[in-house]
Amino acid sequence: MLRVLALYPDLMNIYADRGNLTVFERRATWRGIGFELAGAGIGDEIDPDAHDLVYIGGGQDRDQALCARDLATVKRDALHAAAARGAVVFAVCGGLQLLGHGYEMEGERLPGVGLVDLDTRREDGPRLLGSIAISLDLPGGPARLAGFENHAGRTYLGSGTEPLGRVLRGNGNNGADGTEGVRGGPHGTVIGTYMHGPLLPKNTAFADWLVATAMGVDALPPLDDALEAAAHAEAARAAGV
Ligand code: GLN
Repeated sequence: MLRVLALYPDLMNIYADRGNLTVFERRATWRGIGFELAGAGIGDEIDPDAHDLVYIGGGQDRDQALCARDLATVKRDALHAAAARGAVVFAVCGGLQLLGHGYEMEGERLPGVGLVDLDTRREDGPRLLGSIAISLDLPGGPARLAGFENHAGRTYLGSGTEPLGRVLRGNGNNGADGTEGVRGGPHGTVIGTYMHGPLLPKNTAFADWLVATAMGVDALPPLDDALEAAAHAEAARAAGV
C-alpha cells in the first residue's frame, strides 16, 4: 500500500504538477499495489504516521505566501516526524522553496518548514525559465532527469547539503552553482526539485525510486515504459542533451 498526502492541492499546483500524483496512482495500480491519496489544506493537522509520501507542488509567490505560515506552524512538527521515520517528502519548485529556512521576496520573508538547510531569495535578473536536464545517481546507476523550470527565486544550499542532481542544461537552483534541487533530511528522503511539468511522467525511473523509497523496498517490478521513455527522450531533446 502506498499512502500519499498532497499538501495544499488547490494552491500549490501549477504546470500540471498534479499529474505527478496521477503517476504515483497509476504505477501503483498497474503493479497491484494499493494506493491511497489524501489532501491537507490550510489549517488541517496531519498525522505523521499516516503517509508514506508527502507531496508539495509548485506555486506562484502569492499562493506560497498563503501556505508558508501554515506549513511552518500547523504542519511543521508532523512533517519533521514523518521525515524522521523515513517517509518521503517530495516538493516541486514553490514547494522546494518552502522546504528550507525561508523565501526572501520583495519586502517580505516567507518562513520555511526547516526540513533542509537551504534558503531562497529574489534577486535582480531574469526568471530562470526553460527546458532543463540534470544528472543524478539512482540505485540503478547514473541517471538523467529532463523537464521544465520557471522560477524567479534563487535557492542556495547550506554547506554540506546535497543537491538532488547537477545541472546539465538549464539553470537549476540559482543559475550559478550547477546544483539542482535538494536531497536531505535524516534519511535522505526529503527531496526537492525545480523541475515541473509534470516531472514524473517523463522520468519514470525517478518516480519509481520515490515510490520504492517511500515503501521501504529496494525495487519495484518493471512496467512497459515505452511511451514514457519517448516522452523522456523528447524532454531531453528539448533541453539539448
Ligand atoms: N513562486 C516561485 C518563483 O517564482 C516558484 C514558482 C513556481 O513554482 N514555478 O520563484
